[in-house]
Amino acid sequence: MSRMITTVLLALILTLILPGNSRAAVARGDMDVESYVLEYTLSLDGEYVFQNSLAGSATIRFRNIGSTNIDTVPLLLNRLMRYERVTDGHGRELGIDDRLLELENYPYYQANAANVSLAEPLEAGATTELHIRFGGRLTGYADAGMLYTRENLDPAFTILRGEVLPWPRIAGPDWLEVRKDWSDTYEWRAGFDVPATHVVANGEPVQVETHGDRKIYRYHSTRPDTLLAFPIAPYKELVVNSNRILYLQGSETGARRLAEKMTQAIKLFEKWFGPNKYVQGLALIEIPEGFGSQASFPTIIQTADAFDSTAHMDQLYHELSHLWNVETYDPQSPRLEEGLATFLQGLVNVELGGSPGLEEFMQGILGRQKSTYERHPEYREIAIADFGREGVTDLSYRVGALFYYDLFQALGEERFIDLLSGYYNAFKETGGDFNTLRNYYLQHLDGNAAQLVEGWLAGTAYVDRIMNG
Ligand SMILES: [Zn+2]
Repeated sequence: MSRMITTVLLALILTLILPGNSRAAVARGDMDVESYVLEYTLSLDGEYVFQNSLAGSATIRFRNIGSTNIDTVPLLLNRLMRYERVTDGHGRELGIDDRLLELENYPYYQANAANVSLAEPLEAGATTELHIRFGGRLTGYADAGMLYTRENLDPAFTILRGEVLPWPRIAGPDWLEVRKDWSDTYEWRAGFDVPATHVVANGEPVQVETHGDRKIYRYHSTRPDTLLAFPIAPYKELVVNSNRILYLQGSETGARRLAEKMTQAIKLFEKWFGPNKYVQGLALIEIPEGFGSQASFPTIIQTADAFDSTAHMDQLYHELSHLWNVETYDPQSPRLEEGLATFLQGLVNVELGGSPGLEEFMQGILGRQKSTYERHPEYREIAIADFGREGVTDLSYRVGALFYYDLFQALGEERFIDLLSGYYNAFKETGGDFNTLRNYYLQHLDGNAAQLVEGWLAGTAYVDRIMNG
């Protein structure tokens, strides 16, 4: 009996001291990051990747927007990195309790999770600052299933991306907390000290200082944003219409070809949807195959296949088309805009003289989606509106593209583009959620076209359209 009580007590004590519990039970949503200043130094001259290292300091200013005091602040770092020292705005050294943990809601994703004890409780509404010194090595999370994150400190190419935690993020050891951190936007400044042979690439404004055989790249945000991605390599640069293309060794011909197609595609999108403030001042940055293209304007990160041959040029159109997306504010958006971008990538490719034809391109997507449903019959039960909540937004690329293709065929190109353009121009300033989009389409369509939209965007009837397509 007494032994049982002891066990229960021990369990209770463990519960109280483990991170994420007790005093540390502050949700990421209770903290609003207001500014982030990053200083980063990379050694990239080791013969082997493991001989290279990084050291950084982060100054994070945040406000307690919850209703209770905050005593401890949770932090996350890449699993090959360590916290050196944490101080507050008054220079007081703060206690760090850190350990390597597997994140909740992301099996096998391990991170260095810390709880930092504040010198005094941070009251509701108050702000404070953490100054964090950290360092170590960098590794991606391909082995945890995030396949495109193949980063390490390779001098030929490396990349610093928020999703692999190369700098501390305020978040508990839970993937959902990391995602909350992503959706928090703030002013940021980031300085990167690298060998002078290397370029730290990003689309935001930069100042470059040279100190002997080192260069420091100083970036700052031009709008509230989250720190996202900085590819680093011995880049060469091409400037076209005040847009920059940063390419890797051997890709100059591809870069020139891309520059030409980029100009043509932007012209076409502007004709369809109207002017866009970002189209002057984009940075299109080449990354090696397999590292995953992504766009967060003004930065477009594009895998090498689009530079190597014209066959993959359509990926660039996909990324560019996102410039004309209405910002979505649903907390767990189904990301239907990925389907639109995928469809537009095929359409623009045809309009700019690429191949395959639209029919063949969409047949490929249809075939792949059908085989996905055969392997995962459970996906047939999920309405598009629930893709975000169910964690299957990857389906949006193909399912959404098939929806837009259906609509394109029903309306014809001119009415289809008018509908997209009308929605974009009505909501480009305010943003919208999934229902905003569905309601807009329904209000501006009638008869068969309205029925078609309902069939796709409400319930799961759309699955039959795909399976019988
Ligand atoms: Zn996309």
